[in-house]
Amino acid sequence: MAVGVLALQGSYNEHIAALRRIGVKGIEIRKPEQLRGVDSLIIPGGESTTMAKLAELHNLFPALREFVGSGKPVWGTCAGLIFLANKAIGQKTGGQDLIGGLDCTVHRNFFGSQLQSFEMELSVPKLAEKEGGTSTCRGVFIRAPAILEVGPNVEVIADCPVSSDQLKVAIPASDGQQEREFTNNRVIVAIKQGNLLATAFHPELTSDSRWHRYFLGMVEEAKEEATPSAVMVKYD
Ligand code: GLN
Repeated sequence: MAVGVLALQGSYNEHIAALRRIGVKGIEIRKPEQLRGVDSLIIPGGESTTMAKLAELHNLFPALREFVGSGKPVWGTCAGLIFLANKAIGQKTGGQDLIGGLDCTVHRNFFGSQLQSFEMELSVPKLAEKEGGTSTCRGVFIRAPAILEVGPNVEVIADCPVSSDQLKVAIPASDGQQEREFTNNRVIVAIKQGNLLATAFHPELTSDSRWHRYFLGMVEEAKEEATPSAVMVKYD
């Protein structure tokens, strides 16, 4: 099995190494036509504005949007999550282009600057569903985004507590809704919507392969769904 990894910028080498550890080849994707050779894609962490500029430069947006829209499995980590979101808000969100597809509002740099990067134990029951074992994992958050709102078709996989000084974030007005304050004391940090998976943290920077195996499970399922169980043969 081969998985495409968007290799414009950021932690794509780390994803390829994590895939290699579980016997899967990661294919670096830099050009639109390379997307035709893969049936799943990982969008790594990094810096989403830079990634967007490079994607624009390589004329990747139409092909990336088509790929996401086609229902092929795509996993975005950190900047990759921002890139997949329908709406990004927060510090220095200067109208960067997004691929979109994930029905959520993501806040860039929600937890603060690089210095406020942190690690936290997360509860993720989904990770233990197939494999058993512990349902917690180490989340590595680097200038990480947080998901503030999700649409009805989005499944929340993990959330984490936020401190009081991170609260009272304003969600700007849009889509006929007025500006409102975000006052929950937890934020969402991992979601799944159909064949789209997104994490605000970096599983590729840990030795825990369960997230990559979980994504590969999604890829296998998508393949099975695409293969008709019975082939209809028409005789004249
Ligand atoms: N803060 C970065 C951005 O806005 C994401 C950080 C990361 O991917 N580790 O793109």
